[in-house]
Amino acid sequence: MLYINGKWTDSSSNETLTVYNPATQEEVGKIAYGTKKDAEDAIKAADEAFEKWKRKTAGEKSAFLSTFANELRKRSDEIANMITREMGKPLRESIGEVKLTISYVDWYAEEAKRIYGDTVPASSADKRILVLQEPVGVTAAITPWNFPAAMITRKIAPALAAGCPVIVKPASSTPLTAKLIFEALDAANPIEGIANLVTGPSSEISDAFNESFLVRKLTFTGSTEVGKHLMRGAADTVKKVAMELGGHAPYIVFDDADLEAAVDGAVASKFRNAGQTCVCTNRIYVQESIADKFADLFASKVSEMVIGDGLDEKTDIGPLINKGALTKVTSQIDDALERGGKLMTGGKEAEVDNYNGSFFEPTVINYATDDMNISREETFGPIAPIYTFKTEEEVVNRANHFEYGLAAYCFTSDFSRAIRMMENLEYGIVGLNDDMPTTAQAPFGGVKASGVGREGGKYGLQEYLVEKFVSMKI
Ligand code: NAP
Repeated sequence: MLYINGKWTDSSSNETLTVYNPATQEEVGKIAYGTKKDAEDAIKAADEAFEKWKRKTAGEKSAFLSTFANELRKRSDEIANMITREMGKPLRESIGEVKLTISYVDWYAEEAKRIYGDTVPASSADKRILVLQEPVGVTAAITPWNFPAAMITRKIAPALAAGCPVIVKPASSTPLTAKLIFEALDAANPIEGIANLVTGPSSEISDAFNESFLVRKLTFTGSTEVGKHLMRGAADTVKKVAMELGGHAPYIVFDDADLEAAVDGAVASKFRNAGQTCVCTNRIYVQESIADKFADLFASKVSEMVIGDGLDEKTDIGPLINKGALTKVTSQIDDALERGGKLMTGGKEAEVDNYNGSFFEPTVINYATDDMNISREETFGPIAPIYTFKTEEEVVNRANHFEYGLAAYCFTSDFSRAIRMMENLEYGIVGLNDDMPTTAQAPFGGVKASGVGREGGKYGLQEYLVEKFVSMKI
């Protein structure tokens, strides 16, 4: 079902989409497959709701978001289970994602009360200047499959807190998780039209968003390629855009680092969600004198990881999203080995008893070099290439010499070096001795081809606001 103007409805074409479990290839369920017309209806509903929603007091918006968060909490187990069945990540990671999902709603329920304007000193005695913060307007959100729940609330919670109605188009691999999120939202008794869910063919739906002047903000999380395409489309109606795009995270380990912590952090950062996160480590740089020790310890831990259905509590690595993802991973490994890389563990598709899923062995390649495809292409899979470096200056240059700039990690126990690295890495997010920086109150987002805009914290709220400057002569 689609959720438009506060009602569950079929697609105007009556088409449905079948969702398959990547661990088993079995059907998880069906959902209405909407059309451009459905997206246009949702835009109209959102536009009609805008006037009513933006006039609600901060307290009323906050109260609605709190109720929504509580409805999500009641459904936590069901949502986590659906995430794993739709896209494969281990259940304990799905449970973590649901906590993150709710944390955005909780956080923006509070932040809705803190949208302040300014008074600005005027340049003449008979003038007064005010700056009002106003909602930008109807917001369209397009979300990916790798965090099918958290990427939705990270957008709709700040949008609603700011006073903006939303229309969400989730990824076609994970619409059933989106439906559960909207069931929670529906149970919170929203004003009709303030939040709408439209599944369907991505280019038709996004055309409806981009062609409409009523949509004043487009927020997207996904690949850089699609993000560029959407930015071009948004230019015709001069929308405000936020783009959370691809990454290629360096993970830098200096010889003064706590080796054990650096290895554990690398395993977690690389293989979380089977390597399918935008902030996953892509390139591990280890200082020469500890490189062999690091590689041995790392490969030995990776070789112990259990591959399987995410619903099995022993599983560390679930399936990749589909069989197509296996091809990309395999070709990056072939290329790396042809160019002199040494396979330390993994390297091929994994057989899991009684399952027909898209499983791949967690893979470590030592002696990686900058000319390998994996050194440039976003991996989005469970391959960890290890590079060596000699000096701090060299590794900073190699880490920055790249079009992406989402997340970077650095492990060192030298305080001054940590500060220099923090300042010198050209990334939107830097984890210093920290493999998991994401949190609701901090600004998540990238620089360069990794995107524009921030999600999380007070910064994420500002994305849905515009300043109105009022000059008064008295
Ligand atoms: P994707 O192919 O770009 O898809 C993301 C969303 O865009 C989906 O809803 C998809 O819909 C839609 N889409 C695809 N082609 C489109 C088109 N031509 N026009 C309009 N919409 C289109 O990315 P993905 O494979 O789902 O996700 C992986 C990518 O997302 C990676 O690059 C990852 O780094 C990035 N990501 C970034 C962040 C961040 O915060 N920076 C977070 C998570 C993921 P359909 O599914 O219906 O095709």
